[in-house]
Amino acid sequence: RVIVVGSANLDTTVRLHRHPGPGETVLAEGEATGAGGKGLNQAVAAARAGARTRFVGAVGDDDAGRRLDEVLRGEGVDARLARSERPTGSAFVMVAEGGENAIVVVPGANGDVDALSGRFSTAEQGDVVLAQLEVPIEVVREAFRAAKEQGATTVLNAAPSRALPADVFALIDILVVNEHECLDLAGAADALLEDAATVLSSRVPTLVVTLGAEGALVRDAAGERRVPAFAVTAVDSTAAGDTFCGALASRLALGDELTAAVEFGSAAAALSVQRSGASSSAPRLPEIEEFLAA
Ligand code: ADP
Repeated sequence: RVIVVGSANLDTTVRLHRHPGPGETVLAEGEATGAGGKGLNQAVAAARAGARTRFVGAVGDDDAGRRLDEVLRGEGVDARLARSERPTGSAFVMVAEGGENAIVVVPGANGDVDALSGRFSTAEQGDVVLAQLEVPIEVVREAFRAAKEQGATTVLNAAPSRALPADVFALIDILVVNEHECLDLAGAADALLEDAATVLSSRVPTLVVTLGAEGALVRDAAGERRVPAFAVTAVDSTAAGDTFCGALASRLALGDELTAAVEFGSAAAALSVQRSGASSSAPRLPEIEEFLAA
């Protein structure tokens, strides 16, 4: 089973020719709303990839919150949502031609995720507990502490970038970061990626650095290997990393070894970048299997 602890947002996405600069106005081709937030996206991706999935999050007492709850249930996710007095989190996603995005997030209710309430997040041996950094760091700490006590595997997607306290580092089994997050977290923004990866891999048992269309880098006790990306035409990279993390966690929970799980995550992400949307772009298991077999 996968237990995702994290954020849930209602996304408003606009498609643009190019991103506006400061002080500039550009026209969008249309707008759409959808379920997003790194936590929710990863939970949907994990469930679609075939694992039994629980999501621990928080929403406001509002229409957006009810919609996110419905989306999660519709995906077969065991949704444990605290009701916050703050409004449901929201995100404004700008997607430019070529698929590059720029995002503004209003956390709202995500500040009230409660990983301490045992009924929400009790993990068991064999479970994979997956978190990101769109909720308060104490939530991640408590969720991981409980997970380790129960013999579950902890996976942190350290996104968006922020400093991590040493005691949280010590609770991570698998750290997943993209290139920027790798450099930020290593405290070496102008260093070589290889050097930043060396710094991080000395602090966690397993490090996975995702490199967009260049694939991923895996480092653990067995050494370093590259897992190539699949060659596809990206139209919207929103949630590529989330789909990767959710699908990866799904395979780990189902017993795959790391490299196979990373390949599976890459396949799921490659499928997702060919479609627009956040959680809605995550592929389902049969589609991923077919893609991998082709
Ligand atoms: P993030 O979305 O967090 O910035 P990345 O851009 O590194 O993360 O993407 C995560 C993973 O998604 C990559 O390791 C890769 O497997 C897959 N991916 C992302 N962009 C592409 C792409 N253009 N083509 C194929 N796979 C991609």
